[in-house]
Amino acid sequence: MTEVKAKKFLGQHFLTDENIAERIVESLSPDAQRLLEIGPGMGVLTKYLIKKDGLDFHVVEIDRESVAYLHDHYPTLDVIEGDFLRMDLTALFHGCFSIIGNFPYNISSQILFKVYDNRDNVTEVVGMFQKEVAERVAAKPGNKTYGILSVLLSAFYDIEYLFTVNEHVFNPPPKVKSAVIRLRRNDVKGLECDEKLFVQVVKAGFNQRRKTLRNALRQLNLPLDRISEEILAKRAEQLTVTQFIEITKTIEPCL
Ligand code: SAH
Repeated sequence: MTEVKAKKFLGQHFLTDENIAERIVESLSPDAQRLLEIGPGMGVLTKYLIKKDGLDFHVVEIDRESVAYLHDHYPTLDVIEGDFLRMDLTALFHGCFSIIGNFPYNISSQILFKVYDNRDNVTEVVGMFQKEVAERVAAKPGNKTYGILSVLLSAFYDIEYLFTVNEHVFNPPPKVKSAVIRLRRNDVKGLECDEKLFVQVVKAGFNQRRKTLRNALRQLNLPLDRISEEILAKRAEQLTVTQFIEITKTIEPCL
């Protein structure tokens, strides 16, 4: 990157290390057929992805200058100018697809919630987040960083923390370290419980994560007396996905 100034409010931190760019691209399943890259910027990942044969490949970029740069350098590439968060993903591809990116960190959680909402179509996500978010997503029960996104996403995805990336390989360098993670869709079709209630329970549990579930879930006004004392005495961060599903099943017939 030379003449184009990075825009901080768009989370622009351009990756300058080609080895890391290649490592990210290689982390994608070789059998991916359809792919969306979020926030290609100056195309450090794009230039490797575009070489993949037979891949139905699109990029979405919000920044007009980056879009102009991409049009210039990759005239055959489908560059969607716009906001990923506002995209209707089902209209873009006919069939399941993967997502890749060195993501804009200011909207990391929103990207991941959108993946969750589109879990029936998104088979894989490979990407860079700030390290703390990557750790949170990949965290297991009992860990301090285990939270809402870890539970929701691990219900439908196998999540791997791949590697940590130093801040000095970006221009401009972010204040935090980064990390690359991979999410691969598991074969769970549905949770066999009311999935909206499941999300509510998980969110309520973690929104007051220091409290026991008995106290954290009280605000939901649900028949908590159906849940065992043993579970109610625990905190959200101690529960597995399966236990959250069990709780949801226990209370849903009473709604
Ligand atoms: N992938 C590039 C750029 C990463 S910086 C690289 O690794 O060098 C993040 C990029 O996301 C920026 O180009 C920024 O303009 C873009 N971006 C920010 N918000 C976006 C949004 N809501 N939708 C799509 N792109 C976005």
